[in-house]
Amino acid sequence: MSLTPMMRQYQEIKATLEDTLLMFRLGDFYELFFEDAVVASRALDITLTGRDAGEAGRIPMCGVPYHALESYLDRLIEQGFRVAICEQVEDPKTAKGLVQREIVRVVTPGTALSNEQANRFLASFVARDDMVGLGLVDVGTGEVLFGEASCGECVEQLRRLAPIELLVAKDVDLPEPLARYVAEEQVVVTRRRPGATGYLERQYAVSQPELLGIGATSLARNACDMALAYIEETQKTQLAHLQAPRPLFEPNHMLLTQASILHLELTATARDRARKGSLLDLLDETATAAGSRLLKSWLERPLCKRMDIEARHDAVDYFYQDLILREEAREALRGVHDMARLLARFSFGSANARDLLALAQSLRAARQVVDIVRTQDMPALLVRLVDALPDLAPLYEDAFAQLVDDPPASIRDGGMFRDGVHPELDRLRSLQSSGRAWLRDLEQAERERTGIKSLKVGYNKVFGYYIEVSKANLASVPAEYERRQTLAAAERFVLPALKEREAEIVSAEERAVAFEEGLFRSFSDRVLAAGTGIQQWADAIAQIDVLVGLAHIASKRRYVRPAMDDAVGLDIEAGRHPVVEAHVGADFVPNDTLLTPEENIILLTGPNMGGKSTYMRQTAVICVIAQMGGFVPASRARIGIVDKLFTRIGASDDLGRGQSTFMVEMTELAEILRLATGRSLVLLDEIGRGTSTYDGLSIAEAVLEDLATRSDRPLTMFATHYHELIRFSEQFACVRNQSLAVEETGGDIRFLHTVILRPSDRSYGIQVARLAGLPSHVIERAQELLLARENWQVEMDHQTRETAATAPCEWIHEGEPGRGGGGSDLALFAGPYRAFAEWLAGQDVM
Ligand code: ADP
Repeated sequence: MSLTPMMRQYQEIKATLEDTLLMFRLGDFYELFFEDAVVASRALDITLTGRDAGEAGRIPMCGVPYHALESYLDRLIEQGFRVAICEQVEDPKTAKGLVQREIVRVVTPGTALSNEQANRFLASFVARDDMVGLGLVDVGTGEVLFGEASCGECVEQLRRLAPIELLVAKDVDLPEPLARYVAEEQVVVTRRRPGATGYLERQYAVSQPELLGIGATSLARNACDMALAYIEETQKTQLAHLQAPRPLFEPNHMLLTQASILHLELTATARDRARKGSLLDLLDETATAAGSRLLKSWLERPLCKRMDIEARHDAVDYFYQDLILREEAREALRGVHDMARLLARFSFGSANARDLLALAQSLRAARQVVDIVRTQDMPALLVRLVDALPDLAPLYEDAFAQLVDDPPASIRDGGMFRDGVHPELDRLRSLQSSGRAWLRDLEQAERERTGIKSLKVGYNKVFGYYIEVSKANLASVPAEYERRQTLAAAERFVLPALKEREAEIVSAEERAVAFEEGLFRSFSDRVLAAGTGIQQWADAIAQIDVLVGLAHIASKRRYVRPAMDDAVGLDIEAGRHPVVEAHVGADFVPNDTLLTPEENIILLTGPNMGGKSTYMRQTAVICVIAQMGGFVPASRARIGIVDKLFTRIGASDDLGRGQSTFMVEMTELAEILRLATGRSLVLLDEIGRGTSTYDGLSIAEAVLEDLATRSDRPLTMFATHYHELIRFSEQFACVRNQSLAVEETGGDIRFLHTVILRPSDRSYGIQVARLAGLPSHVIERAQELLLARENWQVEMDHQTRETAATAPCEWIHEGEPGRGGGGSDLALFAGPYRAFAEWLAGQDVM
């Protein structure tokens, strides 16, 4: 079936694409045809029309106006589409026959520029045997990350960095953890032919990837090549602003699982994954977008080398001690825009004069920041940061000298550069303005000559310069006027003299505009040539911003500098949970935490709502803040550096993830027991809650036993409702009982939130239920049943003791009567329900 020549051209181009919408430039529109049109009209909610395509008849078509392309693109990308942009690459006016068209770029979710503050990564994943190589590129900020590890660890990193698009080799089955991750997070997966090589070396102009710290035969190298090849293919260019690749897995960072980041609500709340309400939100006093991004990455990756941590503490302290220095630095920082993103726009060729001005302003403000920060007593970290910075003053001063104060958004309309910047530009402009003066004179002269006061000289793109005369005055128009256009209320004419001069004025204008564009492009090249230096500045400023922000929050919220220690153990005096404290203010009750190699387990009991989970989390959060370089909410803290932090807290967020809550709990627990070392901090909250009481209790007890007896005993906080476990401290010297104090008056309780050095004797479940507003008849009945159960328990215990030898009762824990200590809590769940019910039937309480 033969198509029109243009549709044949369309189909040839379309055939080179896979899984990609094609936007085909046709005059002032980008059009989509066939299936693409149907898909895009639905995705964009625009009208689906048709077009005659030759013998094929009418085919589906839809289109968007060329000037609105970017906003439609954004919407398609947001929905996970890949879109190829096909332009007319020759001028339709001069083209012979069909206009030539080419794909000039392919926009994909992972390679699209965005204005969001957060990172937007493209990731590539290469697997061989059990190992995986990862490459990540944020084309918006120029960050490049690489790593090689087990599949589980790599997926862990992907969950943290949340890439938008993932490249994987064609025809390879996704390993299970990756497949699950992709399904859960709905990442756009792009299949690629593997085997691209040499891209790393070319991008960074190095002879071998080792110079970048990437092994020549490593999977990380393959992954980076895959990502860079994809970028080059879709963007049709190399990106000059990409930063040197940084390793993802460094032993000098604390291992912090994604589950812990979520449980501790470090960067988002567990309930709705919102940044608001998270620790990051509270601590973020940064003044710049780059600073805010960096703070997030510091929080997610606390350090674990004492020197590195203390270097940051020194810098925070430097700003903490000097309020004036700090305030001046904060003020200057506010003048710095997102330089990484600006640089990216230059690299993509999409920067305009406003971007250049914003970059120049940022570099000048950055210089001010450094001038403020630099003093005699500057600590080593800051010295290292600021001493290496190149002098970019000539660049930004030239920009200020040459650009007008408020340049236009387009680089194609001229008006960007000041007068006096370039003689040729001045000459063209004066031609233009003398032309305009001539036009004004002409207008005046013609008014006088014809006596038509309302006569005016105007301009439009189709007819060029013209003279307009209103209908009422047509009678006075001289004979030599040539009519060109009739409007409702006026007629437009030209004169030979006007046409002659027009060519001169228009060409001066066009040449001036083109000249300015050329000037701007060479300025862009200068910016790109200074790219590495600009990145250095951006990086230094982001670090200073974070350090100043940490000093500010420390002073605002009375945090103290923690003492870091290479020996194991935590000693926190009057610690607070920063986020809970921010909510309850002065009502927050500070608590101490002491964990040592000798006493490495805190067994925490007490009623729900007593504050157990807050107490555990605050301990972990204090370690995280300390090790990322911040001051901590406490009156004093000594932190033995933690190598890994594990939490098994709460189960509610696992719902809907397709795994049973209990299964998730056990999977996490298994990982903790496998990976924790003597330097690790482990928080376990109500282990075993998700299964039947006896199973749960047995698991909890076995876990506690393991943590108390292994050779490498991690620092552990273990919250539980199983009061049986309280007896552990008698058996193991390394277990210390603590609980949250409660004041009981009559039937009511009040939570004091004070941690005390003895176990809680009861769970106060019924009192908490009363506080929660359970109807009073239900509460009363529960109390009755509780009492009955306690009596029954006593009786059963008695019987058991008498008949133990002949009829062992399986339901009593390990057949050991009375092991429940206080007894009252064991009664809450002891025994098959039927036995109790039968017994209860014979009692008065029924
Ligand atoms: P649990 O884990 O024992 O059920 P939580 O730690 O969740 O209890 O605390 C319950 C509530 O008590 C928290 O939401 C908080 O408002 C308050 N709270 C907890 N600890 C403190 C404290 N130290 N000072 C003041 N209020 C606290």
